Amino acid sequence: MVKKRLSKSDSLKEIEGFFEDIKNKSPKEILKIKRLAMANNIKLGNKRRTFCKKCFNPYKNPKIRIREGLKNVICDNCGYISRWKIK
Ligand SMILES: [Zn+2]
Repeated sequence: MVKKRLSKSDSLKEIEGFFEDIKNKSPKEILKIKRLAMANNIKLGNKRRTFCKKCFNPYKNPKIRIREGLKNVICDNCGYISRWKIK
């Protein structure tokens, strides 16, 4: 997918397009795109919340619990719990 080194704006486009279809991506692809973002100093922001940071599977049907201003999202693949502050 990403063969040659992309410019920052090309990487941004690549990343935007990638996350539009995040649910159909594999952990390998997600890891790759994350590295691309890091290499170009691109912040993923809310996009980070669309996949598990432990196993890099896209969230399909995660369990979500809300407690004390925190949103706990439990990965449906590996069971890792991500905690996000609710804005
Ligand atoms: Zn996971």
